[in-house]
Amino acid sequence: MTAAGVTHDDVVQIAFHYGLFTGAFGVHYGAETIGASVIPMGTGNTEKQIMIMQDYKTTVLVSTPSYAIALADRIEQLGVDPKSLSLKFGLFGGESWSEKMRNEIESRLLLSATDNYGLSEVIGPGVAGECSCKKGLHIYEDAFIPEIIDPETGAVLPSGSEGELVLTTLTKEAFPMIRYRTGDITSLDYGQCECGRTLVRMKKIMRRSDDMLIIRGVNVFPSQIEDALFSVAQGETPYQLVVERKGAMDSLELIIEVTDKIFSLELQKQRSFLETIKKRIGSVTGINVEVKLVESKSILRHKGKIARVVDKRQI
Ligand SMILES: [Zn+2]
Repeated sequence: MTAAGVTHDDVVQIAFHYGLFTGAFGVHYGAETIGASVIPMGTGNTEKQIMIMQDYKTTVLVSTPSYAIALADRIEQLGVDPKSLSLKFGLFGGESWSEKMRNEIESRLLLSATDNYGLSEVIGPGVAGECSCKKGLHIYEDAFIPEIIDPETGAVLPSGSEGELVLTTLTKEAFPMIRYRTGDITSLDYGQCECGRTLVRMKKIMRRSDDMLIIRGVNVFPSQIEDALFSVAQGETPYQLVVERKGAMDSLELIIEVTDKIFSLELQKQRSFLETIKKRIGSVTGINVEVKLVESKSILRHKGKIARVVDKRQI
């Protein structure tokens, strides 16, 4: 049996969080069904991940795409030659990622990176996945009926239109979903794929019908920026995104509150910390973000919560 190129000969390292997030266990059981060896690493502890990769000759990496970049950074910093690793495939999901990011991951980790799609409410991973052609994700139509609707009116859109993906489950027991609105914006391609599969393909999800920002024509998810920030800061850090229009140009500023960890850094290290965040966000979103440190507790809180995004644009 094979899925996404993975066979019973593979060693699958799962660097998703094991817990309520369905990603880790979903892929775990899938890989076991194929007969592959599974290493349930969980998230974080990047150096250990790399050590395990070396010792167990991991052939498949399962993680978020942004974590794959973090791994590639660490591999580079440690002076490990990616050629000395045994990676062949990367199964990525859990967040939006671009073709640019795919190219970066593939060239730095020397593997073939595919996208997979799922959502906890429906089944977790396994709703759709890319084949080696990487021209859309095949939806497993034997288990799901996909539709595309207009997110405003709810009307079903003609074949090929872009809109919100709606899923009906055919095999899910106890908690079936009927016309479940995913909030994910995509389009469906019923043309035959070069791989020979006849299952419909959905376009990679790059935005949702909810909190997406468009900055200078680029679609940006606050969650992408959050992931980049937390991965560099190695943990949760209070922050706020401020969008403004300066002249004809939109600007996006990331305001980070100083934490004890950041405060204890030397000035030089603080600067390079901010620079790394800026670069990481730039590589993930393709946009230039100003990053600023502010005093602890200086971002306005409403009922103890910080608004993730403040959009001051008047368009
Ligand atoms: Zn295909």
